[in-house]
Amino acid sequence: MITGLPYRPCPLVLAAPSGTGKTTIAHALVDRFDHFVFSVSATTRRARGDEEHGVDYDFVSRERFRAMIEDGELVEWAEVHGNLYGTPMANLEAAQDRGEHVVLDIDVQGARQIRRRIPEAVLIFVFPPSAEALWDRLTSRGTEKLDEARRRMRAGRGELEEARHFDYIVVNDDLERAVARVRAIVEAESHRPARALDLADSVSRLRREIDEVVKRAGAEEVTRG
Ligand code: ADP
Ligand code: 5GP
Repeated sequence: MITGLPYRPCPLVLAAPSGTGKTTIAHALVDRFDHFVFSVSATTRRARGDEEHGVDYDFVSRERFRAMIEDGELVEWAEVHGNLYGTPMANLEAAQDRGEHVVLDIDVQGARQIRRRIPEAVLIFVFPPSAEALWDRLTSRGTEKLDEARRRMRAGRGELEEARHFDYIVVNDDLERAVARVRAIVEAESHRPARALDLADSVSRLRREIDEVVKRAGAEEVTRG
């Protein structure tokens, strides 16, 4: 019996104005569900708070970052709020090999590059429920000074223009609901024929089985007279 066709996993891009909660959603997906892996980006920004090298980011020098660009190691990269950020191609390849959905928590410039280079990626733009909620989240995180938070709010205002180019928009009002919405999108995307592995084989097998069942039914009719 077929319960589900094997499918190619989805590279999943989450982009949003800073402070909306996309990193929180990305980590919730990875922590709660099987087959989700977080894409650890390289960045030239310094680690803040309890961020860990290799877990939250690979914290690298500008020289190292430049070398990664020159060696073609990054599938996309961008300068965001004065620092360089990029996604190693190896993250996508490793996830593909293991059959895992790789979650990219990146900015809108990076999302645009992924759209061009990885057409099968699923792009989700996360909306804050309101400007007040966004401000509260940005400032309560305690990682930015007020003028930096203002700068990020203004940048986010511009980034909202990009939302219409994404595949989906998910509002992060309540975290549980937002995570469930993203999970539902991935579930639906996994059932697209274009993502099915060996679809031609599955169709041939099912057709052969149909022929056998019809033949058997015909034989039973003859026997019954
Ligand atoms: P981003 O990655 O989009 O910059 P974060 O994931 O760092 O944002 O979230 C910013 C802050 O908002 C964090 O303190 C996080 O705990 C909080 N947060 C995230 N989602 C929600 C939510 N649905 N409701 C309330 N607070 C949230
Ligand atoms: P933060 O410094 O707050 O962790 O991240 C700042 C912004 O950079 C966020 O919008 C985050 O999603 C984005 N970002 C993180 N990693 C990458 C990446 O690899 N590529 C791009 N383009 N943006 C990234």
